[in-house]
Amino acid sequence: MDFIKKDLEHIWHPCSQMKDYEELPPIVVDHAKDMYLYDINGKSYMDVVSSWWCNLLGHCNPRINEALKNQIDKLEHVIFANFSHVPAISLCDKLSKVLPNGLNKCFFTDNGSSAIEAAMKMSFQYHYQTGKAHKKRFMALSDAYHGETVGALSMGGMDLYSEIYKPMLMDIIHVEAPDCYRCKYGKCRENCDAQCFEEAEREFEKYGEETSAFFVEPLVQGAAGMRIYPSIYLKKLRKLCDKYNVHMIADEIATGYGRTGKMFACDHAEISPDIICLSKGLTGGYMPMALAVTTDKIYNVFYADYNEGKAFMHSHTYSGNPLACAAAIEVLNILEEEKILETAKENATYFNNLICDKLKNHKYVGEIRSIGLINAIELVEDKKNKKSFDSKKRYGYEIYKKALEKGILLRTLGDIIYFNPPLIMTREEMDIAVEVCVQCINEVLK
Ligand SMILES: *Cc1c(COP(=O)(O)O)cnc(C)c1O
Repeated sequence: MDFIKKDLEHIWHPCSQMKDYEELPPIVVDHAKDMYLYDINGKSYMDVVSSWWCNLLGHCNPRINEALKNQIDKLEHVIFANFSHVPAISLCDKLSKVLPNGLNKCFFTDNGSSAIEAAMKMSFQYHYQTGKAHKKRFMALSDAYHGETVGALSMGGMDLYSEIYKPMLMDIIHVEAPDCYRCKYGKCRENCDAQCFEEAEREFEKYGEETSAFFVEPLVQGAAGMRIYPSIYLKKLRKLCDKYNVHMIADEIATGYGRTGKMFACDHAEISPDIICLSKGLTGGYMPMALAVTTDKIYNVFYADYNEGKAFMHSHTYSGNPLACAAAIEVLNILEEEKILETAKENATYFNNLICDKLKNHKYVGEIRSIGLINAIELVEDKKNKKSFDSKKRYGYEIYKKALEKGILLRTLGDIIYFNPPLIMTREEMDIAVEVCVQCINEVLK
């Protein structure tokens, strides 16, 4: 069978202009191992973006595979209202021990966006049931990304994804996000005290009273181009949310599970949000599952006699899927037993030094920013003025295609090239990936 022809006949791929596939047909993957994907023709691709930031411990990790195989002959799925199972119970018990303090009530959903939606409703209902029904609006950062369902898309602040749908979206208060590369206050990352937080203070003064929750991607605004900002911003946000009785909701769907060098990005700021949303790395990138984890304080406001009507009447068919839970438990076991974060931390320094060495002085590299193994290289037309290239030229896309030819999956965000690899990437693999990346930049921007 001509798989590519059949693919294009029947499949509408995500986040794609399908016409682009005329020129760059879908790569049909046959199998994968660790950092590498292998297509049906045997060509390999190093997956330095963790297959959309979800693969955590390598593809076909033997321990996670084994955990899934063991689980599947026991229990594949079961209704999760009134029923429970050992994998879900063990997972939540283990997770509550590594989460920021106070987060110990786990609500399951089946993808990141739906965890955001659940958190929105949870926060709203909390205020409703504590006599604050006027708290019905939400705040988020500009250029935020929180997913694609209507509530989550509203919360996001990227026109690329939401522009067309604005007439159907909720009216969210967007606070101008920190933009450290183009800091308005002329500060650099080293001497920053998050002066830009005054933007948030201003919005809270206006809208704090009517606001239910503030959603934030802690430390890294991923889809915005791996925009990294200092932890002091989160500390300030935590304080301000407390002052106005606004829930702080940390969207750690992308930043959780060691991506930033600590288990959770909130750990850098030593703060606990009122709700944390997890997905992606949660199952090692194996299964679609997500969690909105909250505190006893919020949970207890829903806890009442049935006829008081205070329950959280929210459900997903695949809540707490046992296979996904089995994978998620094994992920936590591996992180702990194989000292993954410790090794990744050492390698992160090596990786960032290597990238800076090779690219810092490049004519078109405006900024290299990094946290944990995440490294982003922002390409600009003019370094002095930090002027971006005309996006219609699609240089990032050209670099992506060039890298594919050379066997690296280096999907870009506009003209921002980034690495967000599985935590198990070796230094040898880093050497290869950076070498290829430099070649691709030079060939496209020659
Ligand atoms: C991926 C992502 C989401 C959405 O998760 P899906 O599973 O794709 O719905 C939400 N927030 C952040 C920060 C993400 O990176």
